[in-house]
Amino acid sequence: MTTSSQLPLPPFPPEGEVGKILLTEEQIQSRVAVLGEELARKYQGVTPLFVAVMKGSVIFVADLLRAYHGPVEFDAMVVSSYGDALRSSGVVKIVKDLDTPAAGRHVVLVEDIVDTGLTMQYLLNHFEQQGASSVAVCSLLVREGTDTAGLRIDHVGFEIPHDFVIGYGLDAAQIYRNLPFVGVFTGTVDH
Ligand code: 5GP
Repeated sequence: MTTSSQLPLPPFPPEGEVGKILLTEEQIQSRVAVLGEELARKYQGVTPLFVAVMKGSVIFVADLLRAYHGPVEFDAMVVSSYGDALRSSGVVKIVKDLDTPAAGRHVVLVEDIVDTGLTMQYLLNHFEQQGASSVAVCSLLVREGTDTAGLRIDHVGFEIPHDFVIGYGLDAAQIYRNLPFVGVFTGTVDH
């Protein structure tokens, strides 16, 4: 750690860690505004419960909530399916459940990316079992070619190719969530 205010900050992300920028900050912001409006129209007259699937949706949900004009409640749950590796472990685990009971609520699951769909399928079943009045999925990203048969992804920001992406909440070994854009990760997971 260095506290010098004289030296310029090193480049972030460091050279070679991010390849193609798939979605710029401007593209994301204008799409999020559209999604916010879409949701506010859909839930007129009720107060939906937005459930952020942490940690990847942290930035998305903060922007989405501000783009939502109407009463809305927010809660977060932490699930883990990837650990710190770049490939799915195939196992979904609820690390932290909601504080708010979902029974009788209109739940909107806010996700960063639907890849295999395993996480969303698990959570849809979970909230239906809890007695939610309705469960909708709003995902910033959906992987092109994802087999969504039987999986309702009601609101989608963008479709993206099969690269491992970082930024706007998405991490590589917990780093890069704070990038304002979505780009292809070209680095190593060693930090
Ligand atoms: P699924 O269960 O749909 O296969 O995976 C969903 C989860 O996998 C996401 O919430 C996210 O945490 C992780 N994930 C899938 N693809 C990517 C990716 O390209 N980048 C990052 N950072 N995480 C991903």
